[in-house]
Amino acid sequence: MMNESIAQRLRYCSTLPSLPAVAIRIIDLANKPETSMVQICEQVSLDPALSAKFLKVARSPLYLTRRAANNVRQAVSLLGTHASIMIALSFSLMQSFRENPDSKHIDTVRFWRRAVLCALACRALGEKCGLKKLDDLFLAGLMQDIGILVFDVMMPEEYAPVNQAATDHDALLETEREVFGAGHDEVGYWLLKRWKLPDYLALSCLARHSLTQEKEAMSRMAGCIAVSGYIADQFMNMGNREMATHSATAAKEFLDLDDDGLADVLDAVAMSLPEAESLFDISLLDSSEISALMSEARDLQMLRQLKKSRELELNSQRDALTGAHNRGYLDSILEREFELSSRHGWPLSVAMIDLDHFKTVNDMYGHQVGDAVLISVVRAVQGVLRPDDIFARYGGEEFVVVLPGAGLESTLRVLQRLKDSISSLEHFPIKGEPLRITASIGVATHMDAGQRFERIEDIVKAIDQAMYQAKNRGRNRIEMWRQ
Ligand code: GH3
Ligand code: MG
Ligand code: MG
Repeated sequence: MMNESIAQRLRYCSTLPSLPAVAIRIIDLANKPETSMVQICEQVSLDPALSAKFLKVARSPLYLTRRAANNVRQAVSLLGTHASIMIALSFSLMQSFRENPDSKHIDTVRFWRRAVLCALACRALGEKCGLKKLDDLFLAGLMQDIGILVFDVMMPEEYAPVNQAATDHDALLETEREVFGAGHDEVGYWLLKRWKLPDYLALSCLARHSLTQEKEAMSRMAGCIAVSGYIADQFMNMGNREMATHSATAAKEFLDLDDDGLADVLDAVAMSLPEAESLFDISLLDSSEISALMSEARDLQMLRQLKKSRELELNSQRDALTGAHNRGYLDSILEREFELSSRHGWPLSVAMIDLDHFKTVNDMYGHQVGDAVLISVVRAVQGVLRPDDIFARYGGEEFVVVLPGAGLESTLRVLQRLKDSISSLEHFPIKGEPLRITASIGVATHMDAGQRFERIEDIVKAIDQAMYQAKNRGRNRIEMWRQ
């Protein structure tokens, strides 16, 4: 319930803008369950300014119709009945306030810039979240802070200092509640109800309010409205990191949108700015800011796409269970390194690693334990290798390590460390006895110590043989391939 003295003042306030006749009739239509296209056309056609807007909207890329509408009827049928009502309301409600003599107390130009940015953001958020009825979201975003203008016409002298002192939107609401006993959210809701807007639209004013109360019950629509305010503030304060953080936090919390998702929304808003400026006869940001924003948006979009395809590429290089490189990647690397090594005479060492008695691990503890052991073995080995070394799963419990540029001697040192890192792991202490795993390793070096292979396949065959020799000689050891 709203504070009674504010409610009184609102009821007797004579300076509130009255609705133009066309808006009243359109609200009527909005409240009817069935409205025909003809009824809307009639209302819109009665108002030349609104008719002109409709033709412009229908041609605007913002509405994705992109087909030429030659008259209001075509425009309305392109846009659809419901959307047409919302669009008509957006324009006529905004107009009724803008036609008022300009406030001497608050910056109404700034107010409407922010409102249109909210509307664009709210629409873009809805689209990103897969909501339908994007024009409802636009209208809701546009009207959510209308209470500020109500305060301004109702008590200009008292309200102006409160409005000017607020550092951000949340702070403004808080001071209004402290000083007047009601915030512009409740006041706006009161006005839209008095204008008989459908309840779900009037409630848009309270969206930010509802956040503090029942987060779980909050609708997606309320979430979009609330987040749109933060995005608008971010656009109004370009380069202010704190504002950007607020949007990111709100998007995550209220809509579960991650940074990439939010970035898509910001781009969509940036891209729609020029169009929105012309539709609403408003300057949203200055033109150099807009063009900078748009080129930045395009750059960022490209970067995100690159990042995505890079991630995809990386995933296709990795073994799903262990995260080691996979066989396909290994094959391509071996081919490339073999070629480089042969051509330039750089040493190349390759080793095959096979875990000892791994079948018994599965037999005794089950496959899941076996899998977990494989994962920790890979993690341990990666810890002793350098970033340029390649460690790949060759199959089952067999791995191949590729050390480009490493001669025989240094390779043996690396493999010794690698072997120790595996055997020193203690897995699943069962009944006090930790499970330990060892590995047998076969290695060959190309272009060092007088060794040279004709084909990469010969190296693979060689390390396989050396590895079996290590098995035969008692396991948990390293064998070099010799002709
Ligand atoms: P050896 O010391 O002779 O290598 O003995 P081993 O038991 O390791 O013998 P072998 O190489 O023939 O058997 C490998 C076993 O590894 C067979 C299979 O059950 C197990 N294995 C292969 N891939 C996986 C896997 O992805 N997960 C699990 N849990 N086990 C695997
Ligand atoms: Mg094996
Ligand atoms: Mg084995």
